Amino acid sequence: MDAQALSISGFTPFTTIDYPGKLSAVVFCRGCLWKCPYCHNADLQAFGNGEILWESVFAFLQKRAGLLSAVVFSGGEPTAQATLPAAMREAKALGYAIGLHSAGMIPERFSQALELADWVGFDIKAPFGNAYDFIAGKAGASEAALSSLKQLLASNKPYQLRTTVDPALLSKDDIETINRQLAELGAPPTLQQSLNALA
Ligand code: SF4
Repeated sequence: MDAQALSISGFTPFTTIDYPGKLSAVVFCRGCLWKCPYCHNADLQAFGNGEILWESVFAFLQKRAGLLSAVVFSGGEPTAQATLPAAMREAKALGYAIGLHSAGMIPERFSQALELADWVGFDIKAPFGNAYDFIAGKAGASEAALSSLKQLLASNKPYQLRTTVDPALLSKDDIETINRQLAELGAPPTLQQSLNALA
């Protein structure tokens, strides 16, 4: 797949908060298979042509190589696009560390992106089970996310697990259940992100 085909609808040239400990640029990829009610990037859910060309992102990255140290692929859901690994490879070839923000909704694609990622921010939506599918608005979401999470845990790559807490959707008990499920998988507790803080 050609990196030029990556559909991009947002680009942050400089941030300190999207990849722990690194100055990074963030590429916001268009399209997501899920419909979380609190989605902070709802305008990126629809698939289609993005407004920003990979070519221009790549030209920026070429100029900033050595000044910025990481490129984060976010969304939307970056792994929803088959061309993501090609873009990750091109950024990596410039010497950047590669960050990936993903909810792991397509395990086969997540696997390909995980191989190229140096750090992953992984969203946990709810306790695994029916509640997960409900929040994601998609049957099978729980199974897919769990499969991707197991790949991440087995990869030995650095990662952060995080959960957006909408009090209308997740209770304190739900968070405890998530953390119990994570502990059973050998994973650390999820980092709670308040919905208000993301608004
Ligand atoms: S997975 Fe992320 S991008 Fe997709 S609907 Fe949920 S919050 Fe929005």
